[in-house]
Amino acid sequence: MQNNSVKSRDTGQRVSRDGTGHRDSVRDGDAGHVLAKPADTERETLMMELTRLVQKSVRESSWWERRGLDCTVLTTAFLSLPAGFLLLGSSEPLYFLLGLMIMGVAHAIITVKGTHLASHGALSESPAWTEFWAVFFIEVCGSFSARAGVQAHVKMHHAHTNVIGLGDSSTWKIPFLPRSVYLFIAPLAVPIITPVVGMGQLRGQSPFQMARAVFCICLGFFSQYYLLRCVSGLSCGSALAVMLLCRAMFSLPYIHVNIFQHIGLPMFSSACRPKRIHQMTHGVLNLPRNPLLDWTFGHSLINCHVEHHLFPYLSDNMCLKVKPIVSQYLKEKKLPYQEDGYFSRLSMFFHEYQELMVFAPPITELVGVQ
Ligand SMILES: [Zn+2]
Repeated sequence: MQNNSVKSRDTGQRVSRDGTGHRDSVRDGDAGHVLAKPADTERETLMMELTRLVQKSVRESSWWERRGLDCTVLTTAFLSLPAGFLLLGSSEPLYFLLGLMIMGVAHAIITVKGTHLASHGALSESPAWTEFWAVFFIEVCGSFSARAGVQAHVKMHHAHTNVIGLGDSSTWKIPFLPRSVYLFIAPLAVPIITPVVGMGQLRGQSPFQMARAVFCICLGFFSQYYLLRCVSGLSCGSALAVMLLCRAMFSLPYIHVNIFQHIGLPMFSSACRPKRIHQMTHGVLNLPRNPLLDWTFGHSLINCHVEHHLFPYLSDNMCLKVKPIVSQYLKEKKLPYQEDGYFSRLSMFFHEYQELMVFAPPITELVGVQ
């Protein structure tokens, strides 16, 4: 393994707003090659060197590549909603199914891709807009507390990826459920569980944050219900059933993706953590490209999850753009670049459910290889 004996603060610091995770001390100059004198190179950590390469790519990218394409996908999802509501009012079964499909896909794009990018502040460079989009996507659209969502995903899962007791994806485990129920039936309850858990997460928050979250979650829920009643003309029961169907349409892959990309990979102890680049390359896995999931969940959750964990402020499209740089660099430095297929992963979780999802995972020691 690469000798990386010079200690450097490359672990978990606040990253710069340009989305590269790069610290100010290495932001001067254009790229790594400009500063790559032998003495400096020796002092660099692998993470800093990789960050410099990625930062160069980000600087050379247009606004469209950095944010525009992903904002357009999200806007398109919102623009498709009127057609979805109108088609759901049709008495023709095919039109009705098309409406259901449009609303389910749009809901997945908005509540998975949108909330994820918003939680990372990847939709805007302005702090005020970042806050606004987080509340809009996570609370109004995603029925969850924005503060709790950012805390759980960004501050715990990302900062402590695969560290047992902190960011080990244990919230996704329900060990008392049989494997078939956990993998194929329980995820359908995600639309009901999410707001209930979201309300529970409000404990300890300020009165303003609690009131805002309750208002926004109710606003999102009743807006969709009202439009299904008034625009689509559905009865009370049908409107609620359509809401459940749309919201549960992608909940199976949602749960699968959340567990496939971390559980079963090396786990670390909080007392003896590896360097960030080792933590992320050993503890994160990419799934292959999948046209449906690429658009609904976003590249950062599917085929660029490694890149996303290394550079969490990049948008989906930028993660895709820097993927060749990251994969080549990691392979050159003989670091893992883990990839596996969706169904290969599903089969592994089905057959090794006890070891992976019920028993406590063993801790991996990476101390000797750093
Ligand atoms: Zn993330």
